Amino acid sequence: MRVAIVGGGIGGLAAALALIRRGIPVDVYEQAQELTEVGAGVQITPNGARVLQALGLSAEIDRVGTRTRGKRIHLWNTGETREFMQLGDAAVERYGAPYLTFHRADLHDLLRQAVVQAAPEVLHLGRKCVDLVARSDSVDIRFADGSTATADVVVGADGVHSPIRQQLFGADRAEFTGCIAWRGLIPAERLPQSIDRAGGGMWLGPVAHIVTYPVRKGALLNFIGMVDRDDWRVESWNAQGTVEECLRDFQGWHADVRQMVEAILIPYKWALIVRQPLERWSVGRVTLLGDACHSTLPFLSQGANMAIEDAFVLARCLSQPGASPEAALLSYERARRERTSRIVRSSAEQVGRVHAPQLADPATAVAHIDREWERGKIDDRYDWIYGYDAIRVDLPAGD
Ligand SMILES: Cc1cc2nc3c(=O)[nH]c(=O)nc-3n(C[C@H](O)[C@H](O)[C@H](O)COP(=O)(O)OP(=O)(O)OC[C@H]3O[C@@H](n4cnc5c(N)ncnc54)[C@H](O)[C@@H]3O)c2cc1C
Repeated sequence: MRVAIVGGGIGGLAAALALIRRGIPVDVYEQAQELTEVGAGVQITPNGARVLQALGLSAEIDRVGTRTRGKRIHLWNTGETREFMQLGDAAVERYGAPYLTFHRADLHDLLRQAVVQAAPEVLHLGRKCVDLVARSDSVDIRFADGSTATADVVVGADGVHSPIRQQLFGADRAEFTGCIAWRGLIPAERLPQSIDRAGGGMWLGPVAHIVTYPVRKGALLNFIGMVDRDDWRVESWNAQGTVEECLRDFQGWHADVRQMVEAILIPYKWALIVRQPLERWSVGRVTLLGDACHSTLPFLSQGANMAIEDAFVLARCLSQPGASPEAALLSYERARRERTSRIVRSSAEQVGRVHAPQLADPATAVAHIDREWERGKIDDRYDWIYGYDAIRVDLPAGD
């Protein structure tokens, strides 16, 4: 069996590695001429880290990733602080795998190197897939440059705007949330003294919230500021805004927040769009993976983690002895759809917790935080996500 993966993002590369490790020949077709990632962070929670370890990357992720000590909650205007989560060794003890933060380019590069080391000819750059033609025993892929390729199975790991999803299932039902995300990196030396360089923070406010965490062993702090705003609808990793515009969105916030915003190297903005989970991911010998089939709001930091889990489960299904490719893909989607849909729904529900009118007034804010961020509720919200084990989860039959 030869598998073609369309898209060389975090999900596509993780899938390529998982298949190579199981001895399945694979090709990755990426539209970009060069493999690059944006200047931003990504959190790999224990459920994702467990998979990267199983792919033989334990030493690499420890070298390149940062083991965040923990996270604290801050109130947007007073800066009042409390503990949210202990991570570091506590995450390994509780979930059996570390909680790591990365510069996205470092994680992407680590996966690319592992793929190329294991199978040097696998990556094909400058190959934009424009059409798929399914036959009974293979799939032809057509590229924008006029070239073609044939594979036994095709995996669309082609991101949130997935052309393959559109070809299989038509236009999606995308809905703007009325919220945008500011993203940027801050050099540690430009941070206010009071900001923890070894841990993460979550600043909660009435119409916005901020997530920060260290990357590159604390040399940089990743900043994501999510704010209710309905005048920006572009879902792009590369759209830039200005520090002045970002500051306007955090007027009245604590001085530490304003100082962080002023120190952001390049502020990018991304419109948060929600899509209903798909009812099907596969048609015959073609399936989807990652954002292509379950793009999510970033409130639980699970988009890349789910793509990595998908990759491992897909490789397990395709390497099951005796299963036809069609049955293997059905088994994969049955194993994964319920969990990923639950994460997409739970991420959307998180909005009312992190942006809440009660947070406007310090008198009601503390009660809101006490209620919503009580230890037992935090455990209920996160344990099922971080404790998932893609290596051992049951694989349902595909026929
Ligand atoms: C603000 C923000 C913060 C986030 N933080 C986190 C986090 O902390 N943790 C986490 O787990 N997730 C996070 N995410 C989500 C995460 O970034 C995505 O879920 C993840 O990047 C999806 O990976 P992917 O491989 O599915 O898609 P992508 O990374 O989008 O890769 C798709 C690839 O396909 C290629 N492609 C597209 N079309 C074609 C074509 N026709 N032919 C060939 N190639 C094609 C593209 O060039 C691209 O390389 C965040 C998202 C946002 C917006």
